[in-house]
Amino acid sequence: MKQSPLIIGNWKLNPGTSVEAKDLAQAVKKLSAKIEKATVVVAPPFIFIPEVSKILTGKVGVGAQDVHYEERGAVTGEIGAGMLSGFGVTHVIIGHSERRALGETDEMVSKKVHAALKRKLTPVVCVGERVRDKEGRFYHDIAAQVKYLMKGLPPVAMTRVVIAYEPIWAIGTGATATAEDVKEMQLFIMSTLTKITDRKTAARVRLLYGGSVKASNAKELHDNGGMDGFLVGGASLDANEFITIIKSTLN
Ligand code: PEP
Repeated sequence: MKQSPLIIGNWKLNPGTSVEAKDLAQAVKKLSAKIEKATVVVAPPFIFIPEVSKILTGKVGVGAQDVHYEERGAVTGEIGAGMLSGFGVTHVIIGHSERRALGETDEMVSKKVHAALKRKLTPVVCVGERVRDKEGRFYHDIAAQVKYLMKGLPPVAMTRVVIAYEPIWAIGTGATATAEDVKEMQLFIMSTLTKITDRKTAARVRLLYGGSVKASNAKELHDNGGMDGFLVGGASLDANEFITIIKSTLN
């Protein structure tokens, strides 16, 4: 485990109104007030970021669910890293499988990582396989994604990147990888990183697990999965459930 655990709530396209977003942020703030040893971040839809960041002024950080690699220009509908940092955003999810499904490529992911780092945002980059074939070919896909997202980064910048292992078949489906699968992947990503940089740098890269993490499975996944925290989707919309997940990472 590097530093304190990191738990990020990805609200996706939820909740439906700014009133609900503010209520959820207030509830997370209240319930997490006594949590000291974990880094907690919530990533609301872009439009709720200004309101939510006014509420989460203390320990809970505010993240974004995506960023464009251009800072400004003729890219309709996009948001730049400078705009996000101007609103107090600290983390940005990049390459989520739901965005890759809309056409985001490894090359775009890499450009977004560079853009985020330039503005001192922590990139939380998702990697994951569509299916787990018995022959283990999915490991090649993960290695390729990891190498691409770190492309062109000096070692010091690599240590600022967070990698979230999110098997696509486990996202929003209720199916989770077993803690053993997660542990195997943690070791595999670490060895992939060690090949592209040095052992010391690789050891400083934070790794998260995401994919149907709930209050009921978080402790087992954390204790035996070897990751540094979680990227939580659906369960982060219930403040009590989210806080239980956070607490499960604190031994
Ligand atoms: C996610 O969206 O990153 C995610 C892990 O979703 P869920 O927890 O709902 O599977």
